[in-house]
Amino acid sequence: MSIARTFSCVTMAVSGHAIDVEAHVSEGVVGMSVTGLADTSVNEAKDRVRAALMNSGVAWPQRRITVGLSPAWLPKHGSGLDLAIAVSIFVAETNTSADICRSTLFYAELGLDGRIRGVNGTLVAALTAKRIGCARVVVAAQDVNQARLVDGIEVIGVHHLRQALDLVRGEQLEPFESVASPPVETYESTLDFAQVRGQRAAKRALEIAAAGGHHCALLGPPGVGKTLLASRLPTILPPLEHAAALEVAAVRSAIGDRADENGLCLTPPFASPHHTASYTALVGGGSGTPVIGLVTQAHRGVLFMDEAPEFASNVLDALRQPLESGIVSLSRKTFTLDLPARFQLVLAANPCPCGQGLDPRGSCRCTPMQRRRYLMRISGPLMDRVDIRMIVQSPSVADFDPVAERVESSATIRERVIEARDRASRRLRATAWVTNSDIPGPALRELFPLREEVARELSAVLHGGRVSARGMDRIARVAWTIADLKGESSPSQEHVREALALRDSEQQWPN
Ligand SMILES: [Zn+2]
Repeated sequence: MSIARTFSCVTMAVSGHAIDVEAHVSEGVVGMSVTGLADTSVNEAKDRVRAALMNSGVAWPQRRITVGLSPAWLPKHGSGLDLAIAVSIFVAETNTSADICRSTLFYAELGLDGRIRGVNGTLVAALTAKRIGCARVVVAAQDVNQARLVDGIEVIGVHHLRQALDLVRGEQLEPFESVASPPVETYESTLDFAQVRGQRAAKRALEIAAAGGHHCALLGPPGVGKTLLASRLPTILPPLEHAAALEVAAVRSAIGDRADENGLCLTPPFASPHHTASYTALVGGGSGTPVIGLVTQAHRGVLFMDEAPEFASNVLDALRQPLESGIVSLSRKTFTLDLPARFQLVLAANPCPCGQGLDPRGSCRCTPMQRRRYLMRISGPLMDRVDIRMIVQSPSVADFDPVAERVESSATIRERVIEARDRASRRLRATAWVTNSDIPGPALRELFPLREEVARELSAVLHGGRVSARGMDRIARVAWTIADLKGESSPSQEHVREALALRDSEQQWPN
C-alpha cells in the first residue's frame, strides 16, 4: 500500500476538529510536501517527523511523499499532528496492513530523537476521537491521565515513536500504558468559609447567591475582605456534574493546566481578572492561535471582578454576551469559534474613588457627582443581571466574639445549597431553567406568583419608590431561593424582607 490514512486532531481553544491525515509515497522527485492549509508549525513538523522516523530505525523513503491534511479549510497549527503524520508515512512506505489506523486518533508531538512529547489539549483530542467514533486514542505517556477522563475509549500512552509503530504493526515490543480503569473524581479546595472570621451577613448573602445561582455585587471599602469571601464561593457551590466537569477539564487541558491529573476535578473553577486585563485576556481571541479568555476559564464556576469600575468599558461590555448566552463568539478569518462561558459573576467595588464612601465618620471627600460617575461605569445592562447587591462592612467586634460566632465549614453550607438547588430544580423540572436566577421576570410572575399577602408586601415597597419594577423581580427571585434554603414551598413575607435587605445597597448603585 503506498497510501495510508489515519486520524489526528487540531484543537482550537477548547474545540477539537478531527483531521484526516493521508500519506502517499510515490516515484518522483525525492521530497516531502504537506497540503491542506498547513501553517509554519506544521511545516516544521516535516523535519521532526523525518528525524524521529530515522531515529526509530525506519529508513526515510527516497521517494516522493505527499501528506494531505483535511478538511483543507481549517487552519492547522500546533504540533499534535506530528505522530499521525509519522505513522501514516511509515504505513504507506512499508505497506503495513495497519487496520488499527482506521479506528485510532494519534495526538502527540515528536522530538527529533523519536521521543513523544505531550501537547496541550489532549483531553480535547480524546473527546474528539470519541465523537468521531474512534476506538482508541494514542497520546504521549505523560498525557494519559488527561485522555482517560473520557470514558468509552481506549487510551494508549507511548514514550517513543517506536512504540507507536509497534502498535500499528500489531506487535508489542515495549510495554506502553493502556488505561482502562474508570477515572476517579476529586473535590478539592484549600479554601474554606471557616477561614473567614466574622462577616456573617456577607456569608449568608453568598450562600443565597450559591443556592439560586444569582450574580452578585459586593460594595465595600478596600481591605474589608471582599476577595476573601468571593474566592470561597466555589467551595459552597454544588460539585460539578460529570459532563460539566469534563467541559471544565477540557478548558484546563487546552491551556496546559494539569489540575485533573489525579482524576476529574469537580470543584467549580474560579477566575479573577485584574482590572487592567485586556479585552483579549478576558474574552479570548486575538490574532493567530486563539487565546482562551478568563470568561471561559470561569466556565461552570465563578468570575470575580474586583474593583469592577476600574475595568475598561469595552471589557465590561464584553461580559454581556456570555451572561446572556453562556458562550463567547470569536470571529476568525473564515469562521466563528464559540467558546463556553457560563459563569456566576461576582462584582466587587469600592463605594467611591477614595474608597471611604460608606464610612460613618464621613472621611470621604468625593463629591456626589464623583461617586455617581464611579459606580455608573458598571451600571446599566450589566447590573441588570445582578440579583444580589450587598454592602460588605468591616467586621465588628461582635463578629469576632468566639462564643457568638458559629463558624461553619464550606461543606456544611454546601449541603444546604445542594438541598435548595434540588428543591428549585424539582420546581423548574418542566422548564428550560435550572436555577432561580435563570427565570426571566415575566415568566417568574406568571408561572411562580407569590402568595397574595407576600405580593402585597412587595408591592408596598414598589409604591414606596424604594425599588424599580425590575428590582421587584430580582427580589422575588431571591425570595424564592431563600424559601428553597428554608425548605418551604413558597416565599413568605419574612423571606421577602430578607431578600429586600440584600438590596440595601440599591441606592448606592445609580440605575
Ligand atoms: Zn470617597
